[in-house]
Amino acid sequence: MKVLKFGGSSLASSEQFAKVKNIVNSDKEREVVIVSAPGKRSAEDNKITDLLYLLHAHIQYGVSHESVMGMIKDRYIEIKESLGLSTDIEKIINETFEKVNKKTSADFIASRGEYFCALLMAEYLGFEFADATEWVEFDYKGKVKAKKSEEKLRELKKKHGKIVTPGFYGAYKSGDIRVFPRGGSDITGALAAAYLGADVYENWTDVSGILMVDPRIVPDSKTISRITYDELRELSYMGASVLHEDTVFPVRLKDIPVNIKNTNEPEAPGTIIAEAFEDESSEEHERFITGIAGKKNYSIINVYKSRIGEAKIKLIREVLELFDNYNIPVEQVPSGTDSFSLVFPSESLGSRQHELMHELEENESIDSCGITEGVSLISIVGRQMAYRTGISGRVFKTLGDNKINIRTIEQGPDEINIMVGVYNEDFDRAIKLLYESFAKEK
Ligand code: ASP
Repeated sequence: MKVLKFGGSSLASSEQFAKVKNIVNSDKEREVVIVSAPGKRSAEDNKITDLLYLLHAHIQYGVSHESVMGMIKDRYIEIKESLGLSTDIEKIINETFEKVNKKTSADFIASRGEYFCALLMAEYLGFEFADATEWVEFDYKGKVKAKKSEEKLRELKKKHGKIVTPGFYGAYKSGDIRVFPRGGSDITGALAAAYLGADVYENWTDVSGILMVDPRIVPDSKTISRITYDELRELSYMGASVLHEDTVFPVRLKDIPVNIKNTNEPEAPGTIIAEAFEDESSEEHERFITGIAGKKNYSIINVYKSRIGEAKIKLIREVLELFDNYNIPVEQVPSGTDSFSLVFPSESLGSRQHELMHELEENESIDSCGITEGVSLISIVGRQMAYRTGISGRVFKTLGDNKINIRTIEQGPDEINIMVGVYNEDFDRAIKLLYESFAKEK
């Protein structure tokens, strides 16, 4: 049995709905469908969820909301009428919004995007509509009650067979609606797949899988065919705009693979995410790396103390404590004989730089300290790294040959990534060069 989640761009119009139906009907294992709210039809278009938050703001400020409501309604009416559906979505939307007032929560209003969409999709596919409030239950701290929610979903599945359920929200025991963070339909999909013990969780979007590198830097980047959850975690942590590993954690726990697929190109195999791949082909074994991701705007604070010797550990601890008090997430702590540095996102220090430097200079165990700004971190990720030699050599040679100065270097203990720090102005060029160097391999 397969659980499918369709993102907003896959549901943006009646045309997209038709593609979804073809996909679902082409495989009888596809029994459970989670939908987002309709997304943008073009770059200038609006996402329904954004319009709903706007609607909520209009209501709060007592501004007329007729035109926003009209925009929302038109989107659903287009889908209903073009597909010849009988669900009276206009009436349902009107009745919903007649009841809202200043006290209505933003969560309730935002959740309606997925709700209306699921009503239409259920009729169109001939599946049963199962509201998310019937199974996703939150405790009052906002955590999903896993056992309860699983029981309820299993019950619904048993009763109805094939179901469509809205993503993005659930309800407290009181019945009040609560939404997940933005993009949260991915979480609903992962929960459903995990609770039902699906064979695979198919996440349908508008790209044919996860790309090796940001397409804004390398427009013709290759797609990753297989990636482990650990690799995905590294890439998404370093800013790759892919499915975040956190969101698929429920399926990871149950060892269920995720398949990222493209609604507009359903034949493409997409990307498979799994815990490990026992049956790697020789080609995959040969592959040097899986992907490259990076983030700009880090700062480095360098601390010097001559003949520091054994006192180094104590000093590092003191400085780390200071950073902790400032709530600065330290990314790396490279160290030399009489010095060490701390690498952290510049925005986490904000305007407190002088304050922090002052506190460091007050420390009598420090001879001097300095700050370097405008550094980017680039992570080169690949599960084959632990078994192959020469990868770091190639990274350094590629950057060195092109006169790109490497400011910091780090390799994770599990040997699935190498991270280098370069100056911001070299960021795009470094990523391009590294990609070209590695992508040439198979
Ligand atoms: N519709 C919601 C959003 O735009 C949730 C989702 O699409 O996953 O954030």
